[in-house]
Amino acid sequence: MKKQFIVIGLGRFGSSLTKTLVEAGHEVLAVDKDISLVQEMAEIATHAIQADSTDESVLKELGAGNFSHGIVAIGENLQASILTTLLLKEMQIPKVTVKARNIMHGKVLTKIGADQIVYPERDMGIRLGRQLSSDNLIDYIELSPHYHLVEMKAPKAMNGLTLQQLDIRAKYGCNVMAIRSDEEINISPRAEDTIQTGDTLLLIGSSEEINELERKYE
Ligand code: ADP
Repeated sequence: MKKQFIVIGLGRFGSSLTKTLVEAGHEVLAVDKDISLVQEMAEIATHAIQADSTDESVLKELGAGNFSHGIVAIGENLQASILTTLLLKEMQIPKVTVKARNIMHGKVLTKIGADQIVYPERDMGIRLGRQLSSDNLIDYIELSPHYHLVEMKAPKAMNGLTLQQLDIRAKYGCNVMAIRSDEEINISPRAEDTIQTGDTLLLIGSSEEINELERKYE
């Protein structure tokens, strides 16, 4: 379903987010106080407008309250980020996502009603750290603070064994959701399906469970 987003702050984060949302078929009003960034986005976003988001009357003129989702991607200026979030929540936007610089910034944003807080640098650092620290891990997505979706190269020691023989769920607690081999992906793997070297496994589990599985097959 098509959604209406207002993205405020068109730095590296806000502009790449805008592009992705438009490519996915959504409507995006892109806002920045810097005219050159607005011009860069004019071709991409549904609408691009130069405005100072800390000015309540300007946000009202833009009809900010009619959007289903607001994104505050102001990085450096904490005051502007906090004030913009507060105004968007006062205008009753159902969901407001805010990019935070650090935990203190995130705490303030929670207090004033931000619905989702993201820490892109921290999260990317964690994700990359996990990928680099393991030979088998390809990607790592946090589903909740405890559960992760992990893409993992099938370790050599699994070659030729069935899921039943490996018994991953009983031994480690995590679930094999899919097995990818070359271009094919098996999204409902059965107990008798065999793992081959070169396959990729998609696993869901807690970080402890996944760490344990990785250590076992290092
Ligand atoms: P990134 O790390 O994503 O590049 P930046 O902090 O560099 O983030 O970018 C934030 C953007 O937010 C800048 O382009 C800046 O002009 C914009 N911005 C900051 N304050 C306001 C404001 N009050 N109204 C609109 N845009 C703002």
